[in-house]
Amino acid sequence: MPQSARITSRIHGIIAIVGAGIVGMSAAYFLSRAGWRVIVLDAGSPASGATGASDGAVSVASKKPGPLMTLAVAAVQFYEQLMEAGVLVDEFASRSTFVVASDEEELAVLERHAAGLQAAGVPISYLRGGALAEAVGVAAPAALAAVEVRGEGHAIGYRVVERLRQLGGFEIRRDVRVVSLRHTGGRVDGVVTDRGIVPVDAVLLAAGLGSAAFLEAPGLIRSRKGQLIVTDRAGEDMPRFPGPLMSCRYLVSKGSQANGSLVEGRSLGLVIDPLATGQFLIGGSREDSDDKYGTDSDIVACLLADAVALSPSLAQLRVIRVFAGLRAATPDGFPIVGQLEGVDNVWIATGFEGDGICLGPLMGRICQQLICGQHPQQDISALDARRFKLMLAAA
Ligand SMILES: Cc1cc2nc3c(=O)[nH]c(=O)nc-3n(C[C@H](O)[C@H](O)[C@H](O)COP(=O)(O)OP(=O)(O)OC[C@H]3O[C@@H](n4cnc5c(N)ncnc54)[C@H](O)[C@@H]3O)c2cc1C
Repeated sequence: MPQSARITSRIHGIIAIVGAGIVGMSAAYFLSRAGWRVIVLDAGSPASGATGASDGAVSVASKKPGPLMTLAVAAVQFYEQLMEAGVLVDEFASRSTFVVASDEEELAVLERHAAGLQAAGVPISYLRGGALAEAVGVAAPAALAAVEVRGEGHAIGYRVVERLRQLGGFEIRRDVRVVSLRHTGGRVDGVVTDRGIVPVDAVLLAAGLGSAAFLEAPGLIRSRKGQLIVTDRAGEDMPRFPGPLMSCRYLVSKGSQANGSLVEGRSLGLVIDPLATGQFLIGGSREDSDDKYGTDSDIVACLLADAVALSPSLAQLRVIRVFAGLRAATPDGFPIVGQLEGVDNVWIATGFEGDGICLGPLMGRICQQLICGQHPQQDISALDARRFKLMLAAA
């Protein structure tokens, strides 16, 4: 196993992880190898939250320059290490993403973002003229310019979770809702569930949006809904896509520009992701909504119109599925990772918004390191839970 995935094991105690999404399950994997007895509790089943309702872009291209982009680079490398170590066999595929500008406004966005990517040391190629035509000319004939971001990847969240479940070494309790944490004298000694109390020595809150219920911080973690479209398989006569196409508008709607912030209310970006099955995944929306399952024809119609405008050959395909999921967003756009205040033995890892499939395994490893008193290699100060002075809600 490569150095950064190797763990020294010694006996600790019992740790409860609340949430069996990609973050909780990754942490469970690493903590169990580090000598903890791990019990993962989920109100539903593994990957039943955002992890099971996402695209799988392990993407540096979509990140805002700064700490998130730097962490995304490390996260891609960590996926590769886990593949080499046989932990995530066939769960991660390397590929390039093509960020595409179709008008002058998007061109300005593309140039700013390319500069940010370059400054972070991300391998990119700026494509215009002949090189553009060769790379994306058939897939996106109206593109004015594009940036190829190399060394990105794709991983399907629920498959990563399932692989970690199969590797085992920890217990998963499904359909168990954690209601509160029992604490006395500055320590939590029990997790109160709708099926009784689980005695613990430590707790990691990795419950995505559900983490908010344990905090004395109303409104801190908000839901950002996303709707995604899946087409049927492309025929032999469809033009080949060199990789996912990401419109510059996607960067704006995600708040990924150097000075950008999340668009309030409802916004649409556009990513056309050619899947290994030959289908396309087209996304997506960002909506201030906590309606977990609802989809609407208005959003779908806009996304499809934008997708066909960028890539006309998609008009040949049928839509076979539309689905929605809820991302957990924070006010400053950074996840929340670290220890809660006022108690010695509770950690939190939440607020991954649209980046948790990319960052999840690395964050699981970092949580294990923090909980074992080790220092992560990566600088996670921008994610530190202490910036919000987070306290446990009264039980
Ligand atoms: C439409 C959409 C597209 C996305 N696309 C991408 C992408 O391309 N790339 C990317 O990197 N990220 C993407 N994301 C984001 C990514 O899916 C999330 O950031 C990530 O899955 C968060 O993982 P998590 O483990 O923190 O939370 P979750 O997956 O939400 O898991 C939390 C778990 O906690 C459980 N839980 C909650 N409350 C309780 C409780 N009280 N007791 C017990 N259990 C509880 C839930 O049942 C759930 O299983 C997308 C998200 C959406 C919605």
